[in-house]
Amino acid sequence: MEASDRFGCLIDVMSTTIKPGTASPVSPAERCDRCGARAAIRAVLPGGGELLFCAHHGRLHAKQLRAVATEIRDDAQVLETTPGSA
Ligand SMILES: [Zn+2]
Repeated sequence: MEASDRFGCLIDVMSTTIKPGTASPVSPAERCDRCGARAAIRAVLPGGGELLFCAHHGRLHAKQLRAVATEIRDDAQVLETTPGSA
């Protein structure tokens, strides 16, 4: 009984947390968690949390982010090519 309960729980977690393409676009108002620069990369964590990084720190931590994040959204290019409207 216990084993089947655990499997049911695992399947439920997997089906509800991994949804590629659900990360919101990075807003110019959002800031890098490390240095406070304008964020360009959003990493969505399995627990539903998010990490924000500037392009510099996003690339610096890219390997670790890919290991832990369910989704990584890189809006660096979008932000760079968007005309800087304040
Ligand atoms: Zn940074």
